[in-house]
Amino acid sequence: MRMIFLGPPGAGKGTHAARVMQLYGIPQISTGDMLRQAIRAQTPLGLEAKRYIDAGELVPDEVVIGMVRERLAQQDCQLGYILDGFPRTVAQAEALAVFAPIDLVLNIDVLDEQIIRRLSGRRVCPGCNGTFHLATLADAHTCPTCSAQLVQRKDDEPATVLNRLRVYREQTQPLIDYYRARGLLKTVSGEGSIEESFDNVRRALGLAQA
Ligand code: AMP
Repeated sequence: MRMIFLGPPGAGKGTHAARVMQLYGIPQISTGDMLRQAIRAQTPLGLEAKRYIDAGELVPDEVVIGMVRERLAQQDCQLGYILDGFPRTVAQAEALAVFAPIDLVLNIDVLDEQIIRRLSGRRVCPGCNGTFHLATLADAHTCPTCSAQLVQRKDDEPATVLNRLRVYREQTQPLIDYYRARGLLKTVSGEGSIEESFDNVRRALGLAQA
């Protein structure tokens, strides 16, 4: 199965993609994670990407398209993949169509106020890459999985979140119509708890309850 998880920042794309990856045994390809990894490794690509990410803007299409094209050519993608956070523009979708087939696009729908609440309370673990929310953490500073110090992503700070939402509306939302017109789109509600919205994802993908 070759899938795209589409939706605004904070919709739960990464969380659900990680679970589906386990169930299907296919890789989750998160362009956000790949870019953050490049920033940590201080590669030329990472250094270029950092200023866009920190401002809540999109990294230029040609940079991200090249990165995904290389990743999808790897052996572990031959049986399928979940694209998480790519494509984010119509130009990226058009490029993708040339080098990779897609069976399904899952659009995870969440209201703006919920997104702002989720992103402003999100904390991530640089140790195990886990994602948490202040509302469910007993200790706001310590990773419950590996005890590393939790941090707030710079692009989850309030001013940047608003910009990311604007960028999403202007540049990524048109993909909903793009994929609907191609008969590939399924939309699910991403409101409510992770469990509730994962149930919607599971049903849309025809996965049996665990
Ligand atoms: P994410 O972790 O998916 O929220 O992505 C974090 C940031 O990485 C985004 O706000 C963009 O700056 C950048 N990014 C991730 N994926 C893409 C993409 N497909 N195209 C352009 N920029 C991207």
